[in-house]
Amino acid sequence: MLDRYLEFTHSAFGKQLATSLGLPTPPRLSRADAGYAVAPLAGKVALLAADGAATATAAALAALNQLGTAVQVSPGHSGFAAVKAASQATGVDLRNEGAESDPIAPVIVFDGTGLAGAKALKQIYELFQPRLRRLVANTRVVILSRAMEDCDSVEAATAAAGLRGFVRSLAKEIGKNGSTANLLEVSKAGDAWLAGPLAFFTGPNSAYVTGQVLPVGAAPKGAVAPAHFNQSLAGKVAVVTGAARGIGAAIAQVLAREGATVVGMDRPAEEGALGATLAPINGVGLALDVTAPDAGERLASELKSRFGGADIIVHNAGVTRDKMLRNMNAQQWDMVLDINLGAILNINDRLLQSGLRPGARFVCISSIGGIGGNAGQTNYAATKAGVIGYAESLAPLLAKKGMAINAVAPGFIETQMTAMMPVANREVGRRVNSLSQGGVPQDIAEAVSFFASPLACGVNGRTLRVCGQNWLGA
Ligand code: NAP
Repeated sequence: MLDRYLEFTHSAFGKQLATSLGLPTPPRLSRADAGYAVAPLAGKVALLAADGAATATAAALAALNQLGTAVQVSPGHSGFAAVKAASQATGVDLRNEGAESDPIAPVIVFDGTGLAGAKALKQIYELFQPRLRRLVANTRVVILSRAMEDCDSVEAATAAAGLRGFVRSLAKEIGKNGSTANLLEVSKAGDAWLAGPLAFFTGPNSAYVTGQVLPVGAAPKGAVAPAHFNQSLAGKVAVVTGAARGIGAAIAQVLAREGATVVGMDRPAEEGALGATLAPINGVGLALDVTAPDAGERLASELKSRFGGADIIVHNAGVTRDKMLRNMNAQQWDMVLDINLGAILNINDRLLQSGLRPGARFVCISSIGGIGGNAGQTNYAATKAGVIGYAESLAPLLAKKGMAINAVAPGFIETQMTAMMPVANREVGRRVNSLSQGGVPQDIAEAVSFFASPLACGVNGRTLRVCGQNWLGA
């Protein structure tokens, strides 16, 4: 659905009016218009800085080098020694940052894995404070911290936690021009898997992801880090439920863009729409209700007979039946629980017996409603919170089998689901986030594609909010 307010504020008159009334002027977000390139940051410049005792800088520098970017440094920053040591260790050349009058790098990575205590946090002030006024539109800030379990002292854990507050506040400050800030909490085992998350969080694929904290750790058994980033899903078979329209259709398209063969599932009533979505991407349609008692069985046998199994399962099909709990009938409760949660458990139970190829990846669609809760959505929020717990608890079991599961929690996304909301609720839903606008289905699809691909090898059992840092459930 077209965001008329955003369009209006980008006209000369609208911009002037919104500014004079102190109303938000949502920035235009720069999104991916093609698949990942072999080296996604080729032709770009990234500024890399670190705290003086940082321990992931060599890994971050090697990852940025693999992404194809020229790496700029600030020799005047107090933590410069760590970056210099990383350059010597990796053999990657560094460039000094330009003069204050030069444009600032559109990607800024700060390695804060060695911070400990309150005073040390001054190093992030020193880096960001002088540069914020010169930030270009759609800048990507990525901060690394050491995961709590790998912090060597109370002071280190305290500083690592401090970075969470810093990133969330910075994201709120810089969202006005479409810029984002995110934190990767890297365990020592996660250093080797940094390139993929950096590819996602420094690129246009994460345009609607900001203010988020994502842990990066060990990869599941047998995982192999990507040698390059383009066509990372080539040769993979991906199942997407609820693929006829909305977010599911976008997921099918983005997975196909990255090279996957898509099997799209939707209710038999949607067979026509499903065919229309899948035809341009040469996908295979399966008209099957996810709550059918034999859904898992039919899907498994279809996958086995046509492809020998699937590599990626995306549980996207979902419905709302909003009512205050006091007015909600049992059918409204059951329907939402069965489709949004019960079907995921049933289908996965069956597929884990057979129907998957080695190294399979599961991605479930949750919702920020499952994190913050909404009046009138007890049924929906129970399912979406359940999905988060499901991913978290299943992940260690899957890791032993070389598989992984993650969840994506969308905020307000422009689809038929949100178009049905009352106008006032819809307008509020769109604006109460750091980017002052709703997301588009592609934003969710990009996050799903990240989790489905080797780029997210070091991420398992996590939930990533794709919500423009919606203030709901923060
Ligand atoms: P949508 O436009 O309503 O599309 C959902 C698709 O799933 C439809 O094609 C629907 O078919 C299908 N589906 C429903 N029940 C099914 C069943 N039993 N078996 C197979 N397919 C079924 O919704 P959306 O906005 O794209 O949402 C997709 C997912 O994102 C959902 O899980 C939703 O909860 C989640 N989400 C969306 C938002 C948002 O802002 N849009 C926010 C947070 C989370 P029918 O048309 O026949 O029902």
